[in-house]
Amino acid sequence: MHKKLFIPGPVEVRQDVLEKMATPMIGHRGKAASILQRSISEKLKTVFYTQEEILLSTSSGTGLMEGAVRSCTIRGAAIFSVGAFGDRWYEIAKCNNIPADIFKVEWGTPTTGKMVDEALATGKYDLITITHNETSTGLMNPVEEIAEVMKKYPEVIWCMDAVSSMGGTKIEVDKLGVDICITSTQKCLGLPAGLAICSFSKKAIERAKLVPFRGAYLDLLSLYDFIQKKDYQYPSTPSVAHYYALDFQLDRILAEGLENRFARHIEMAEYVRAWGRAHFELLPADNYLSNTVTTIKNTRGIDVGALNKELGARGFEISNGYGKMKDKTFRIAHMADCTLEDIKELISNMDDILGF
Ligand SMILES: *Cc1c(COP(=O)(O)O)cnc(C)c1O
Repeated sequence: MHKKLFIPGPVEVRQDVLEKMATPMIGHRGKAASILQRSISEKLKTVFYTQEEILLSTSSGTGLMEGAVRSCTIRGAAIFSVGAFGDRWYEIAKCNNIPADIFKVEWGTPTTGKMVDEALATGKYDLITITHNETSTGLMNPVEEIAEVMKKYPEVIWCMDAVSSMGGTKIEVDKLGVDICITSTQKCLGLPAGLAICSFSKKAIERAKLVPFRGAYLDLLSLYDFIQKKDYQYPSTPSVAHYYALDFQLDRILAEGLENRFARHIEMAEYVRAWGRAHFELLPADNYLSNTVTTIKNTRGIDVGALNKELGARGFEISNGYGKMKDKTFRIAHMADCTLEDIKELISNMDDILGF
């Protein structure tokens, strides 16, 4: 039996989207490939609220996280971490021999504008990374406040991990001033994993030109140059199957309407939060709750594994806590094409199992 996924990626994918991946193949150097990639890029600009170029990478989101720090850091990267995915960015920088410092907070608390200001005031860094939506803790960072601070540091490149939020909550990339905003297909966009997406600002392009060793496969400048020189093509063979599905799914997302889509995510989040508060506690403070995934503190000490096993028998799957919080928290994702009805069905099964 297929278990309906309420985990923070991969998400449930609609049958018709899955079927689009079975479209007969085309060569990636033909006109049809250019038309397809251009179409996707135009639609993604709307979703990202950006006029900058969109880069596609046949990798998961982590690939573009690596590409971003490696392609655009010269002096040093300030990595702001609020959980597991922030830490990942630091590990990526370190194993690429990129000078980087990590600024950590207690899990469940945010990166503040003040923290960013203090770090950048040292003059040591020419790039920062921020996690927009930390999937381990269910926290959304106060990016407007960070954007205000970033206005003071026009020479610094701002990379943002929006892997688990882009397409599920409003992120106005250009208005915020984010230079490289990254997402993956298997979260709020509602596709299978295997394609990563980022915006790439003119400022980031100019920076990358000054970086001598940007790597090869994940060099953002080479992805950008190929779009220019080859009219929206990819340097190697892309997953055209993903392109077909993404082009189709973006039409659906835009037809739903971005504002409607974001409102649906908030509605689902509020339902899960209310349930979480009634029976447990939520991990982050109220001002920083994620609209796409809710992390609940296991204050009753329930056996999360057993709960998930029982849910599995009924055709549902939620997520345990991430890493060190495996049994101390559990997570319910409400992203992509999930509906309030789906969430209600899940929660009523959880109530039944837990005896609430
Ligand atoms: C899932 C996730 C990632 C990793 O993305 P992949 O596509 O699995 O490489 C990075 N950051 C956040 C916040 C995520 O939720």
